Formats: sequence, C-alpha cells, structure tokens
Amino acid sequence: PVENGPVVIVGAGQAGFSVAAKLRDLGHSGRITLVGAEPHPPYQRPPLSKGYLLGDITEERLHLRPLTFYDQKTIELRLGTEVEAIDRDRREARLNDGSVLSYSRLVLATGSRPRLLPPDQGGDLDGVYYLRSIADIQRLAREFVAGRRVVIVGGGYIGLEAAAVSAKLGLGVTLIESAPRILQRVASAHTASFFRELHRSHGVDILEGVGLTRLAGREGRVTGAVLSDGRSLPADFVIVGIGIHPNVELAEMAGLDTENGIAVDAQCRTTDPFILAAGDCASFPWKGRRLRLESVGNAVEQGEAVAKTIMGQPQKYHAEPWFWSDQFDCKLQIAGLGGDHDCAITRQVSDTSLSIWYYRGDDLLAVDAINQPAAYMVGKRLIAQGKSPDRMKVGDAGFELKSLLV
Ligand code: FAD
Repeated sequence: PVENGPVVIVGAGQAGFSVAAKLRDLGHSGRITLVGAEPHPPYQRPPLSKGYLLGDITEERLHLRPLTFYDQKTIELRLGTEVEAIDRDRREARLNDGSVLSYSRLVLATGSRPRLLPPDQGGDLDGVYYLRSIADIQRLAREFVAGRRVVIVGGGYIGLEAAAVSAKLGLGVTLIESAPRILQRVASAHTASFFRELHRSHGVDILEGVGLTRLAGREGRVTGAVLSDGRSLPADFVIVGIGIHPNVELAEMAGLDTENGIAVDAQCRTTDPFILAAGDCASFPWKGRRLRLESVGNAVEQGEAVAKTIMGQPQKYHAEPWFWSDQFDCKLQIAGLGGDHDCAITRQVSDTSLSIWYYRGDDLLAVDAINQPAAYMVGKRLIAQGKSPDRMKVGDAGFELKSLLV
C-alpha cells in the first residue's frame, strides 16, 4: 500500500524523530530515512540552556534514544548530511554527499536557527555566542569561568535561562532587553515580574527598555556593549538570544508556500500533498489564523500527526500548546496561549509558588504555573476539555484545584 512507501525526513531533531518513531509504531513497514545536518543522533535541546550548560548532564543524556534504537526499528540515519534540493516532479531529495533519495512522502522537519546580530553591531566578533546546538554549547563552555563578566542580549526564555546558569556558576551577569520588559513576546507581565525579581535576588542585573547599539571589540574580540542610553558595559563574552528564524529555504526553493514558516493544512500537508512539515519550521491553521510554535510539545505532537496522515489516518492537528522553563530553583510550566487575555487571576500559595490564570471573557485561555505543578496539570486538562472554572475558585489558595476535574 502507498502508506508503506519510502519516507524521507529532512531534519533529525525533535520533530523528525517523532515522525520516524510514530511511523514505526503505526506499523509502517517501508524505508524510513532520517537526514540530519548535525553529526549527533536526534537530541533534546531544552537542557542546552539548563543542565547541559551548567555541566550537570552528559551529552549522551541529551540523545532521545541510543543508536541501537534506530537499528532495531530499521530507521536509517544519515547524519552530518544535508538535503540540498527537492525535485517534486520526480519525488526525489538530493543530498550534499551527492546521493539521491526517492520518496513517496517527504517530511520537512528542518527546525529553526538563531537570529544573528548583524556585523555592523559587532555580531562577527569573537566571544559572541548563540544557544541552539550541542556544538554551540561546547564552544561556549570554555568561557564559563567564575568571576568573568557576561552580557546577555535578549530577555526571552533562552536569555533568562543562560543568565540563571551564568549566575549559578559565579559569573557577573547583565541582561539587556530592548522591549519595555523581559518575556514581552511570550509571557504576561505578571510572570515577567516574578522572574525579574528572582533574577535580581540572585545578583543578575536586568536592564529593560534598553537596546544594544553595538558591541565593542579589540583585535577582533568582544570587550563590551554600548547601549542605546549611551552606557557602556564591559564584557568578557556575550550571549545573544534574540529569537529564531524558521528554516524555510528548502521549501521555498521547491516552490512551496510559506507564511512565517512552511504553510501546512490541518493534516500537516504543505501545498504539495506529498510533502508534509512539522515542528519549529511549520505554520499551521489555529483558531482562524496561522500559528507557529517553538516548543518540544508541538514538535512531538505535530510529528505524530504527520505520521498519522502518512499512514492514512488523518486527523486535524489540534495543537494544545504547553511549555516550560527552569531558572534557578524555579520551574515555570505554561499551558495554553494567554496572549489575548483580558483578565489575569493570581493564585498565590507562597512567595515561590503561584499560578496565573488567564481569561478572555469567561473563557480560560492559559495558566502559568510557577512551582505549582497541580495548577499546571489541572489547567492543561481544563483547557483541553474547553472548560473554564470560576475565577473566584482558582484565585482562592485554599480551594482544592483537583476537584475541578471531577
Ligand atoms: P530542531 O530540534 O531544531 O531540529 C531540526 C534539525 O534539522 C536540526 O538538527 C537541523 O540541523 C536539521 N536541518 C535543518 N535543515 C536541514 C537540511 N536541509 N538537511 C538536513 N538537516 C537539516 N522547548 C520547550 O518546550 N521547552 C524548553 O524548555 C525549551 N528550551 C529550549 C532551549 C534551547 C537552548 C533551545 C535551542 C530550544 C528550546 N526549546 C524548548 C525549543 C525546542 O527545543 C524546539 O522547539 C524543538 O527542538 C523543535 O524541534 P524541531 O525538530 O522542529 O527542530
């Protein structure tokens, strides 16, 4: 049957792995090839800015599965290899080692790459780092020596997690964010306030509403940062976390539609029904608009939806966004997307345990839970079921949240 035809997956990251593993789970018996530009088997990226950066976990622990898994499942790994072009008429992918793979279905799971600081802002100086891959962290690790000064550009999750690790390792840390506040694009003002105070209490200097004019350097090496308010900060090295670009070039070259990511339909198919996409690179229909998510949960679940479509079991990919971030000894867990809220209720259990429940009208949109796993679990289930609890109840720290699930 057609669903057992050869599948080529471009990108051996979280989403690409999810497609391959789910295809075998669903009984796909044909050839599956996972082509990955990096030399590593599929691995998880979240620890790159957390435990792995801190030096707490080994590289093997990042791998999603040991190499034996791919042998057992006869999933062919082509690592250190890139897909350079797609010939849609012949249904072939051309690799940079000169080989050509035929496919009955091709999956784009190309992920994303960091937005770079331009050279005229000092982005080409030595000592400027990004956090995306194992190789990035291995280069950066050499700089982490107690007492040195790091400037972090960007107050999103990656910048804040890098700041927390740097402070824990005894470095002097200044983080600059050009928007009026940290986490502007990804979390509410309430959650941002909690993390601002947490970082300040650990000695991280957070500057908000202050942009980077340029990095200063000597003999090709960064020495500091010149800020939009005229200040200059000394720096031994700099970490830049100013967002990502989805990797859409291969899709564009093949003539597929893109719109803030590779445009897919509800079954994860691109404008060519033989080519599907999942993960950071894909933008999909969501509540009347297009959405692109940058999270493990989305990569895994959308990858599984791709596998179902390939196996002739198409279901609408119904995204239920979830995310987490670890900073110092605090765990933030987010269920849903709260961007459109008109009301936020705080459930404060202690100074370090709280959750924020976001509503639009009577509808619960999202929950940010800080050291409150029960709030995350209950909130996630309620959002998935389309249920909205009474605001008075969730705001009452004495009220038993789990009773809302009965
Ligand atoms: P990726 O994991 O980026 O994989 C894509 C792969 O495709 C890459 O290896 C790339 O080299 C390869 N590739 C691209 N083009 C080609 C080509 N033409 N040929 C061959 N290979 C190609 N998410 C959370 O939910 N929680 C977190 O706490 C969290 N923390 C994070 C911390 C860091 C430092 C980073 C970088 C990300 C974090 N994320 C987190 C986001 C999460 O890791 C990503 O959303 C997820 O990895 C996306 O999976 P993906 O498969 O779409 O892309």
